[in-house]
Amino acid sequence: MSENRQYDKYNIYEECIPRSLTRSLITMGEYEFLYESSLEHYTAEAFTLRCFDDRFWKAFKNFLKQKGMKHIDPESVAGGVKILATPEKESDRDFMLRDIEKSIRLHHTKKIMLFPHHACGAYGGFEAFGNDREEEFCRHKEEHQRAHEVIKNHPGFQNLTIESYFIDEKGVRRMM
Ligand SMILES: [Zn+2]
Repeated sequence: MSENRQYDKYNIYEECIPRSLTRSLITMGEYEFLYESSLEHYTAEAFTLRCFDDRFWKAFKNFLKQKGMKHIDPESVAGGVKILATPEKESDRDFMLRDIEKSIRLHHTKKIMLFPHHACGAYGGFEAFGNDREEEFCRHKEEHQRAHEVIKNHPGFQNLTIESYFIDEKGVRRMM
C-alpha cells in the first residue's frame, strides 16, 4: 500500500514539475565497471549466427579476428542456423529474419555468416549422427542449404552474401 502511494507521488512529480527538476530526482545508479565504449556509428561487416555453445566461442571470435573483421552483428541461439532451417516454431524463424532486416537497415549489412559446430546439443549431440564425422558434416550441410534458401527467398535479402563455416575442436572449415 505504502509502495503504491510512493509511486503515485512520483507520477505527480512527473506531471507537475519541470523536467529539469524531475531529472534530479531520478537515481541513475553507481557504475560497477568502468569501460569506455565508442558511440560512433558502424557498418557491420557481417551478421553472424552461431549456437550459444561456449566451447566454440573463442574459435569463432579468433576466426573473425584473423579475418580482420572489427564490426559484426552477432546472434547466438541454441543450434544456430536451426532457427532458420528447421525451427521448433515458425515464429522463431520470423524473429531471426526480422533481426537480419534490422541489421541491414541499421548497419547496412551485406553478408551473413553461419556457424554450425561439432556435437551440437540442439541437434542431439554427436550421437544423433551415429558418432560419424562425415555424416555429421553432410547433415549440417543439408541444413545449411535449407537456411541459405530461406534467406535468399526472403524479400530484400536477394543481394546478401551467405557463407557457412563448420567449427570443431581443431578449428573452422568453410562449408558452403
Ligand atoms: Zn550447439
